[in-house]
Amino acid sequence: MADFSTQRRERVLAADRAHVWHPYTQMKTYREGPDPLVIARAEGPYLEDTAGRRYLDGNSSWWVSVLGHGHPTVKRRVVEQMEDLAHCSLAGITHEPAASLATRLVESTPAGLEHVFYSDDGSTAVEVALKMAFQYFQQNGQPKRTRFVSFQGGFHGETIGCVSVGGVSLFHKMYQPLLFDVLFCPSPADGPEALAAFRELMAEHGDSVAGVVIEPLVQGAAGMRMYSEAAFREIAAATKEAGAYLIADEVFVGFGRTGSMWACERAGVEPDFLCTSKGLSAGMLPFAATLTTGKVFDGFLGDAESGRTFYYGHSYCGNPLGCAAALAVLDVFEEEQVLAGVDLRAQRMAEGLEALAKLPAVESVRQTGLIGALDLQERGVGGYLDDAGWQVYYRALELGAYLRPLGNIVYFAPPVNIPLDDLERLLQIAETAIASL
Ligand SMILES: *Cc1c(COP(=O)(O)O)cnc(C)c1O
Repeated sequence: MADFSTQRRERVLAADRAHVWHPYTQMKTYREGPDPLVIARAEGPYLEDTAGRRYLDGNSSWWVSVLGHGHPTVKRRVVEQMEDLAHCSLAGITHEPAASLATRLVESTPAGLEHVFYSDDGSTAVEVALKMAFQYFQQNGQPKRTRFVSFQGGFHGETIGCVSVGGVSLFHKMYQPLLFDVLFCPSPADGPEALAAFRELMAEHGDSVAGVVIEPLVQGAAGMRMYSEAAFREIAAATKEAGAYLIADEVFVGFGRTGSMWACERAGVEPDFLCTSKGLSAGMLPFAATLTTGKVFDGFLGDAESGRTFYYGHSYCGNPLGCAAALAVLDVFEEEQVLAGVDLRAQRMAEGLEALAKLPAVESVRQTGLIGALDLQERGVGGYLDDAGWQVYYRALELGAYLRPLGNIVYFAPPVNIPLDDLERLLQIAETAIASL
């Protein structure tokens, strides 16, 4: 591969500072700050910069690259698919990748989910579920079910619909006037009182609720807030009892992250909607799917004039390349028995977290499957804008790991197939970085 000259790197940085608007980034600080990493390539659990320095990708590039970067099987299958068919719409026509993948997803996910609606990313996967749940009740005799329930700390994506059900106020409060009315519950990570509050809310308002939107077991963006399988089962049961639909947002926790393929499966919960993205195409292409039940699907059947059609779809709905990537990801999970290896990695992570917990700068640690997180003692303004996490971030970069924090929370969500010695190195780097605070 061609070497990346210093000049070429400078050109990238100049163009970036002039024109690229980065996500979740204060651009004034960014422009005035140190040069960002310029990534030239990536392989397995490593990102590599233009000088050939390698960094362990501690968060699978925003939770996406669950099989590491550039998995050869996934890459090959996408290229093969590109030779035959890179794109065609899914409007009244079909293709083998879409049909095969739908079958595989239905087989893989919890019982009851039988139909697959494709879209582009995690946000659209959730948006689809919101609209389907709402429309289902409108046209199936329960038009009063118009509202959604979600949880403080929940994160479901960036569209106005997803932001409406989002419970991370730092990200969402600006858009308040644009959002629809949602009933918010305390985070299930807040313990038994939160569950009691949920039951109360459903008892009072349950008959006006279309859907309950939840991140099963771990609220990711809120700072890896974790709760028990039993709590999730309770929420699922109370939702069903109220006659509302359970919308499981597995965009982050799906694809082995918790140790099972699906967090719902781990908890023994059968949701009415399951939203998946990120690990679904594992960083090869933007891609997403929303699964639902035969009951919901049937509620949209009728003749053309019935008005029961789901008038919704994106340009890249069912994109053959995305389907090929997802099919390859599912094959890799089977062929390489990826899930069977997650427990051992989780065990190693637990040992690493135990060592980290002993550092004076660390307040507490927690873990679910291959998600580990720790709270640093606050050093600045506190919360998401605290700078303790950023100090660890810069120190870890020097030591060869990319550990973008969530405020004062440092977390680990490496590829679920990360080699054990790389995982140990990642935890060791975190320990050294935090110890130097
Ligand atoms: C990332 C994420 C989303 C949004 O996905 P995008 O691909 O960024 O649109 C939705 N829900 C959860 C739980 C997520 O982690």
